Amino acid sequence: MKYIGAHVSAAGGVENTIARAKAIGANAFALFTKNQRQWQAAPLTAKSIDAFKSACEREGFGPGQILPHDSYLINLGHPDPDALAKSRDAFLDEIRRCEQLGLCYLNFHPGSHLKQISEAVSLKLVSESINWALERSQGVTAVIENTAGQGTNLGWSFEHLATIIDGVEDKSRVGICFDTCHAFAAGYDLRTSEGCAQVFGDFDRQVGFQYLKGMHINGAKSSFGSRVDRHHSLQQGNLGEAVFHHIMNDTNFDGIPLILETIDESIWADEIRWLRSLAS
Ligand SMILES: [Zn+2]
Ligand SMILES: [Zn+2]
Repeated sequence: MKYIGAHVSAAGGVENTIARAKAIGANAFALFTKNQRQWQAAPLTAKSIDAFKSACEREGFGPGQILPHDSYLINLGHPDPDALAKSRDAFLDEIRRCEQLGLCYLNFHPGSHLKQISEAVSLKLVSESINWALERSQGVTAVIENTAGQGTNLGWSFEHLATIIDGVEDKSRVGICFDTCHAFAAGYDLRTSEGCAQVFGDFDRQVGFQYLKGMHINGAKSSFGSRVDRHHSLQQGNLGEAVFHHIMNDTNFDGIPLILETIDESIWADEIRWLRSLAS
């Protein structure tokens, strides 16, 4: 079974996401549980939590179909100890919000070394940050997203992802969200079916499909290997359609949220329908 949806708005409260997902024909969705550009957020209210849970139950969205995304401000590999502590606190708060909502994943970008420390040292900080947060929480898996490698962002290579996972103590609570646009921009050529077989084969060897907990299904405005993060609609841009055929016809991508973060939300319903049509 393929779970397909989009990153829908939580405007007006997290409980409003379910109807928005339903309206585009989705059986999965992503959301921010707080404003993604601010450090502070009011706690979720009991009313909001209850409304979210009952709407999920009513509309048939289980926790495995929902992929919350954390704030863009958080940097779990931050070179500065005070800034790192602030990021860890914010990350733990995000995990707790997911726990409160009955969710099982939190998707996040690993972090950035900011040219102040080496990649290796920053990657180690990311693993330690995950350990720190997992020790203080339960039930939520930390889902690391591969990045485009823009600026000093870590996590663009499979080696980075494997290194972070290697440093995590509780392997049962760490996973990967694979973003098609980011991988392409990072230099993984997904433009042909042969390319897809190669890249996902490498992913399995270097990271392992057992860690794959979600996908971001995006076209790319960025060019191949550019390390620039610019999403596009699925049937536009530089990535092409082969990767979407591959994903829809490979059981490695069954049972995990496949989430659109494409740029034109007015065609999300069409994009979801189109993806479903690719399954033979
Ligand atoms: Zn992301
Ligand atoms: Zn992106």
